[in-house]
Amino acid sequence: MRISVDFDLCQGHAVCATEAPGVFTVPRRGKVEILDHEPGPEVRAAVEEAVRYCPNQALFIDEGDH
Ligand code: SF4
Repeated sequence: MRISVDFDLCQGHAVCATEAPGVFTVPRRGKVEILDHEPGPEVRAAVEEAVRYCPNQALFIDEGDH
């Protein structure tokens, strides 16, 4: 699993950082920063929630072995 972001869509709502705080962080005024682009399976559920609940649908999970 690899996470990517469309920064044109992200508006810094920080829902992602609430769902998966070890993977995403969002500065007070800014866009998401990905702390871990390829997190392990233990955080998959949290990342999937972040993707689902991002209000701007700016997050993507790229499946695969890379
Ligand atoms: S929830 Fe979506 S819009 Fe909000 S900071 Fe995260 S990626 Fe950006």
